[in-house]
Amino acid sequence: MPKEALFPSVRAVVETLKPSYPVYCLRPKEIRRCARLFLDQFPGRVLYATKCNPHPIVLNALYKEGIRHFDTASLTEVALIRESFPDVDAYFMHPVKVRASIQAAHDIYRVDHWVIDHENELRKIVEVCGGGDGQVMLVRLATKAFGAAFELSNKFGASAEAAVDLLRMSAREGFQCGLAFHVGSQCRNPEAFRDAFRIVKGVLEASGVHIHYLDVGGGFPVPYVDDNPPPLEDFVGAIKEGLALLRVRGDCVLMCEPGRSLVASGSSLLTQIQLRKENALYINDGIYHSLSETVAAHIRHPARLIRAIGTPSETMRPYTIFGPTCDSMDVLPYTIDLPEDAREGDWIEFGQAGAYTNATRTNFNGFYPETFVTVDDGPLLPA
Ligand SMILES: *Cc1c(COP(=O)(O)O)cnc(C)c1O
Repeated sequence: MPKEALFPSVRAVVETLKPSYPVYCLRPKEIRRCARLFLDQFPGRVLYATKCNPHPIVLNALYKEGIRHFDTASLTEVALIRESFPDVDAYFMHPVKVRASIQAAHDIYRVDHWVIDHENELRKIVEVCGGGDGQVMLVRLATKAFGAAFELSNKFGASAEAAVDLLRMSAREGFQCGLAFHVGSQCRNPEAFRDAFRIVKGVLEASGVHIHYLDVGGGFPVPYVDDNPPPLEDFVGAIKEGLALLRVRGDCVLMCEPGRSLVASGSSLLTQIQLRKENALYINDGIYHSLSETVAAHIRHPARLIRAIGTPSETMRPYTIFGPTCDSMDVLPYTIDLPEDAREGDWIEFGQAGAYTNATRTNFNGFYPETFVTVDDGPLLPA
């Protein structure tokens, strides 16, 4: 089999490969649809957050639809992006960077957009690659918690007061300045963006520094089971309202950095049942592989059973789903309804599996999902 074969449907993957290993079923058309939605609706520059899913098929689909800016957080990601697409920009958006990575990103890959949330990091960047010179320094602000699945401001982000100082110091070092924030991943409440803009407004007024960039981050949510967030329009509306409150120059570049919302629906995960014990199904993927967000954020992927020959029962029952490792923690933190006659050899497809799945897998216990195929059918979405 070619490494990334094209199949008309997930069922065709099952019938052709009968895979006893997990398979990521990528849908480039769906990824392009999501990219188009963002490019059409967001009134600024759309950066893709590479960490969310760095697979080349995913990156290529985004690139083909017109994504030309990438949020990167390590030298490996910078290299991946700059070497895959010579005409795109990589932005180094991690507030804590290795000195050698700053150096290589600057000298080899010509990165010139940086993020800081502390003056020690500013000093590091100035020492390694000098200030000014058309380089851009974004100051990352902490925001308040608004019910995102992952709050990021408890790890990164300067207070409003500290941000005022950081903007002034960056301006003094000769950088073009900007502000950045991230309201948290899978943020269901557009109010989070309105509130962040209020913080931005305060910082701008207190600092007197003109910003050239305003980066509203990622966090745009997607639907999962029992999780049906408002549409992108509502978030874009909140951002436009926030923008109208600010007095920024006409040439200030608005940016966003979506990860999840560009790629979640663009992949599903095909797993296989290896053993059934009464109400428990042991499958070949789990929380140490593609399904870590089920535990970390209680995310529920839509799921359906696929049988190669014959038809499964229409009567459903709840199952406990165990992953493949020997760790007793390797179990989904909720039951999943599947046909009552589910059995060894059946497949379970998990939808909305493009974000933080292959990106976060480990090879714990010798299990490592590494088969990617392209399928041409529609995404598996929550009912
Ligand atoms: C993870 C991350 C993103 C992407 O967040 P999503 O919730 O996937 O949209 C964007 N920017 C930064 C700085 C991040 O750390």
